[in-house]
Amino acid sequence: MSTRIYLECNVHEPAIKSDQEVGQHLYDLPRIREEIAKRAEYVAAVNLDAQFERFTQGAAYFFSQHPTCPIRIVDEYGDEHP
Ligand SMILES: [Zn+2]
Repeated sequence: MSTRIYLECNVHEPAIKSDQEVGQHLYDLPRIREEIAKRAEYVAAVNLDAQFERFTQGAAYFFSQHPTCPIRIVDEYGDEHP
């Protein structure tokens, strides 16, 4: 079963969810958490126009928009995956 996964920043009002999904299965969660842990590197990479695989690219772009915000992982059903 697929589960569309997004990043969300809720320090903004209203909360901002990533335009692009960053994963499609719960087994993507470890990769997404690792990408969040390396957020600063992805922000730097986006600034250098680096290209990644589709989901990672979506995450990297979202990080570049929210370089220091707290980011949550949410799925299409609104459930959070801490
Ligand atoms: Zn933000």
